[in-house]
Amino acid sequence: MRRISVAVLGATGLVGQRFVKLLSNHPFFETRVLTASERSAGKKYGEAAHWLLGGDPPEPASEMVVQETRPEALRDVELVFSSLPSDTALNVEPRLAEQGFKIVSTASAFRMDPLVPMIIPEVNPNHVKMIEKQSEEKRWKGFIVTKSNCTTMPAVISLKPILDSFGLKKVVAVSLQALSGAGYPGVQSLDIVENVIPFIKGEEEKLLEESSKILGEPGSPLKIPFSASVNRVPTSDGHLLHVFTELEADADAEEIKKALKVFRPLPQRMGLYSAPDPVIQVREEEDRPQPRLDRDYKGGMGVVVGRVRKCEALTVKYAALSHNTVRGAAGGAILVAELLREMKYL
Ligand code: NAP
Repeated sequence: MRRISVAVLGATGLVGQRFVKLLSNHPFFETRVLTASERSAGKKYGEAAHWLLGGDPPEPASEMVVQETRPEALRDVELVFSSLPSDTALNVEPRLAEQGFKIVSTASAFRMDPLVPMIIPEVNPNHVKMIEKQSEEKRWKGFIVTKSNCTTMPAVISLKPILDSFGLKKVVAVSLQALSGAGYPGVQSLDIVENVIPFIKGEEEKLLEESSKILGEPGSPLKIPFSASVNRVPTSDGHLLHVFTELEADADAEEIKKALKVFRPLPQRMGLYSAPDPVIQVREEEDRPQPRLDRDYKGGMGVVVGRVRKCEALTVKYAALSHNTVRGAAGGAILVAELLREMKYL
């Protein structure tokens, strides 16, 4: 089978490393170009990347020479995965889309652009059609598609079957977010060892706005009160979220668990290569999910839900967890690309 040639922008970073690892041996995508900043350009990837995923960077990526992030470096590339910092993505991604590159981005720069779809394939695959309006109005030859923030991911995937079965009136979420969510080198060790930081710039806004966009229809976000409070905690990977919901229909914990367990959306029915099946695992233990024990469920692509129980203030509450750099970033973007391929956008 012919593989689609891809580039990874920001390949030396934490999310870039996940891309490189997940794309090695991918059946449909072949990594041809790796880019980063001027600091890394010209070096072999194995030397430029401060490899944090255990073992060594995979071959042949390790021997590839890192390029500067410029359109000229991307000749013959059909698909671009972007894991650039948002301020860089803001300049680079539209220039590439203008020139005809098809981009799936993990950066936040264009997530809330009304012409840019933000796709979680299990939740809003119908938003993909926004690409057509994007091409018309932006007059780009290529396109930009984004995926959500890493904390939005476990929230929205677990809320979708609840929304569909019982309706949502109100959501409150409290996050406990891992260090890798801040990239590398990220948070200073003396700030976080033996500590919790009850603030992450921009994250509460992202959780609210992105959830509304994804759970709504294109151009018509879901309008319900949604409140969030986020925390950085000293875990390495895996964002844990406490979610409190008020529902339209009456439902008890057992009914919610059943809705989560039977959730089998489009990517799973299509059998997309990276789609975890089932996407949600419901655990019964009173002390799960936990980041160290549950973040690798289905290779880090699934969401683990536990502690589903009656909420004394709203209707039902639970905890949800997913791997922030896999499902919440590179793996989530690769699944979006697999959906785009299946829908003939690639
Ligand atoms: P990171 O570890 O800081 O990596 C940033 C990458 O971008 C590195 O490869 C870096 O190259 C490159 N870069 C920096 N400045 C550049 C420039 N001016 N031009 C070209 N390349 C440049 O960050 P990360 O955690 O991987 O995050 C990458 C993106 O994904 C961000 O937009 C982030 O918000 C988003 N995201 C992250 C997570 C997560 O859990 N970490 C989850 C979802 C989304 P050098 O090595 O050469 O500096």
